[in-house]
Amino acid sequence: MYDLIIIGAGPAGLTAGIYAGRAGLKTLILDKAQCGGTANTAPLVENYPGIDKIPGMDLMKSTAEQAKQYCEIIEFVNITKIEKAIGLTYNLETNKGNFSSQFLILATGSTHQTLDAPGVEEFTGRGVSYCAVCDGNFFIDKEVLVIGGGNSAATEALYLNRIGVKCSIVHRRDTLRCDIKLQEDIAKNNIPVYWNSELKEVKGDMRVEEAILSNKFTGEETVVKVSGIFIAIGNIPNNQLALDLGVECDDFGYIVTDENMKTDGDGIYAVGDVTGGIKQIVVAAGQGATAAEKIQYLLI
Ligand code: NAP
Repeated sequence: MYDLIIIGAGPAGLTAGIYAGRAGLKTLILDKAQCGGTANTAPLVENYPGIDKIPGMDLMKSTAEQAKQYCEIIEFVNITKIEKAIGLTYNLETNKGNFSSQFLILATGSTHQTLDAPGVEEFTGRGVSYCAVCDGNFFIDKEVLVIGGGNSAATEALYLNRIGVKCSIVHRRDTLRCDIKLQEDIAKNNIPVYWNSELKEVKGDMRVEEAILSNKFTGEETVVKVSGIFIAIGNIPNNQLALDLGVECDDFGYIVTDENMKTDGDGIYAVGDVTGGIKQIVVAAGQGATAAEKIQYLLI
């Protein structure tokens, strides 16, 4: 029986593990894959305080090593059943054995919606990005495209424009879906938009060099020389376990928490990207620390 099981070994879950283990809680972290989560895919992290530049995978590897000093971690775990037993005990059945815990932290992250155009996967991390705040600085004075027409695409484009990236938007309709204020800001900043256009292919050698866009109605193709492509067409929270546990999620599927990262489930907390909001490593880590601290106070 564990005091705490953390599901998800990204920055949020690993940080929760470090805090909980150091506070003397018998803690287990489970992950469906290897430790690190989506942070592993960041080619270079330049905004984690105290570390000037580090590949996301290296940052996550050292965070996992640190967490292993204080708690158990099992990778490649498939949770087949999760349920609340009598009292404050959660039982988990997995392909790596059955586990029980008094508290749970859900740190299951979210998945970027992506495009299946040729080249998108191949050039991810080599010009194709899903995060302007993470990667925008690598493209200052360079041409990039932002794909999408919602609030994410608009805010990504405005952010890139502000830091000096030459950015254009590619949207599959003739109007943006984002808030009117964001539409006005895009017009005010003269950010060009390729209307009724879809990304057909990404080409390059080592890195992205050009994007082929196709007009939805005429089929006409346009080749655009670019160094980067930011895909901002939505995000899917990995909330299946929360739903299985009957934990409240918002209209977009993100887990609802209070300021201590507590959900409406008895003894269940949620941290990191699965809770929505600002999807940054440092924010996820802060939320992990908050949840673990709250739980350890409850166990004193
Ligand atoms: P979203 O509002 O669902 O917009 C996704 C955009 O991507 C839409 O314009 C959609 O096109 C486009 N899209 C989806 N699939 C596509 C595909 N296969 N190919 C090309 N385009 C595709 O998602 P979001 O912008 O990520 O926002 C999610 C939520 O977060 C929203 O509630 C949003 O308001 C909120 N948010 C708020 C802010 C803010 O500053 N207030 C910032 C970011 C996000 P269609 O328009 O044709 O459907």
